[in-house]
Amino acid sequence: MYPLKINEKYDLPNLANLWRRFTTLYTGNYLPGDMRIWVGSHPGVDIVPPVKNAPVYACLDGEVVMAENKGSYGNIVVLKHEGTYDPADFTKKTTLFSCHLHLSEIDVKKWDQVSEGTQIGKTWNTGNSTGEHLHFQIDRAESPYHAYWPFTWAEQQAAKLDFMWAVNAGLGLDNVYKYTIDPLVYLDKVDAYRNNSTPITPKVVSPVIETPKPVAPKAEVKIETPVVTTAKVEVKVETPKVVTPKVETPTIKVASLDSSVDVISADGTVQKKN
Ligand SMILES: [Zn+2]
Repeated sequence: MYPLKINEKYDLPNLANLWRRFTTLYTGNYLPGDMRIWVGSHPGVDIVPPVKNAPVYACLDGEVVMAENKGSYGNIVVLKHEGTYDPADFTKKTTLFSCHLHLSEIDVKKWDQVSEGTQIGKTWNTGNSTGEHLHFQIDRAESPYHAYWPFTWAEQQAAKLDFMWAVNAGLGLDNVYKYTIDPLVYLDKVDAYRNNSTPITPKVVSPVIETPKPVAPKAEVKIETPVVTTAKVEVKVETPKVVTPKVETPTIKVASLDSSVDVISADGTVQKKN
């Protein structure tokens, strides 16, 4: 949850109309109404509270590691969030520190355990501040101290810039990226992650073990389906030529004494002898 109960979302592409609520953006500058990011080196978001002395809440479960008045920060509360979502990969855990500056009262003590939503203080204008607002910042675990600031007084002097113009000029912008994150973008992602019914866990891709398929030796059995052609059985029925044998009627010569004897043929005809 956001550290203040406000209706506006820190909707980056549409912030132009919200500059009265978010007066200075993460990596923005102090020029009124300039909603550009990545141009300045402001390491947090300045939020104008909805009412004066608005309650400030812990954005996540955590432990109070700082609750004191600290010079230009004014009254500051720093919470340590151990085991919270890693902004780079929500499936991993990391430690982050949320920092709340310029408070009026402080409602927690160092080493208190707080739950998300616990009231830790109220907004005001203490320290180096020109109007009532909450400077809200989230430091990475690697940040050397809290609330981290991206340039030192000496660096600012060397650049011959006053404090605000050093921020406007983006002095130490690389350090902003290295040691802090955009706090409200992060909290929006936490909300989205929790509300997503299917957690945004990366798909565990089990290595594809390709079991080699036993390759049966290719016996190329070409089964050629025989073309069944109905064979034309040409049955040549050769009607056998019945050759009627020439029956030669033998001339039976009947020897006779009498030469005038008739010759009788085999068919019985009698041929008269001449
Ligand atoms: Zn600020």
